[in-house]
Amino acid sequence: MMEIILNEAVDVGRSVLKDGSVATYIPELAKADPSALAVAYCGLDGRVCSAGDTGTKVTVQSISKIASLGLALEIRGEEALFSRVGAEPSADPFNSIMRLEMRAPHRPQNPLINSGAILILSLLPFNDSSERLDAVLETMRRMSGNEGLRVNEAVAASEKETSDRNRSLGYFLRSVGAMEGDVENILDSYFRQCAIECVVEDLAVMGATLADGGVNPLTGRRIFTERNALILRALMMTCGLYDGSGDFAVRVGFPSKSGVGGGIMGSVAGRAGVAVAGPALDERGNSIGGIRVLEELSKTLSLRVL
Ligand code: GLN
Repeated sequence: MMEIILNEAVDVGRSVLKDGSVATYIPELAKADPSALAVAYCGLDGRVCSAGDTGTKVTVQSISKIASLGLALEIRGEEALFSRVGAEPSADPFNSIMRLEMRAPHRPQNPLINSGAILILSLLPFNDSSERLDAVLETMRRMSGNEGLRVNEAVAASEKETSDRNRSLGYFLRSVGAMEGDVENILDSYFRQCAIECVVEDLAVMGATLADGGVNPLTGRRIFTERNALILRALMMTCGLYDGSGDFAVRVGFPSKSGVGGGIMGSVAGRAGVAVAGPALDERGNSIGGIRVLEELSKTLSLRVL
């Protein structure tokens, strides 16, 4: 039954793929297949069901910001973090620098835009970039229950070579005293966490972990406190699709986080993780077919939380 529903949603999603295009500002991402589209559902009983082009591998990109933020919340606590970064939606693109300069004390608007995510990494208690990356990768492995998650080094290197904007954000944050530490070292772990590769089922289990109050329903392990899982879902709801978050709330209506690799990880508290992988993006950098699939599933499975 669930498979039929998922298959139908993928068919609906395929009809809008022609209006999207794959990310090209990271050259390695331009190699992705724009016609690929897959969906997965993970209930809180730990059962995973998927449909479409389920072999499609995507790099998590901005979805990794949930793992690094969750880890930072666990280690540093909510008060320490939110004295350094805001928790308000931003109407600007994910890599915008404008608002950061306009208002003192120059705090990033939220932890899910690039400036906020880079700052969050600087607050983790690691000086070594690979130790920092390992901690984020381990968090993502625990969230997904997949010990095999790895960094796609070609994508990480490609982003590093073309990272003028993220480098600008990092150095700007340090120049105004908002961030401390070695910017290049922090960015190295940022690029590598964005390049962690997964399939759609991994994203669905990650979403289910957040839906289950921080406990992975596959492994039974607690990854985040209930409070921190709630904070992550709340920020996904308000900021998870950047300047597309309001429109997404109307169309889909449950907390989700997108990435320019084409993944979207959704989380319906008390019910399920729902995820899509489809590298063709809309003009805001969100999976165009993926959003259409989630809109359809939100209706057929009554997943809306609003
Ligand atoms: N690695 C990407 C970047 O920093 C992540 C952006 C995204 O997925 N929206 O540009």
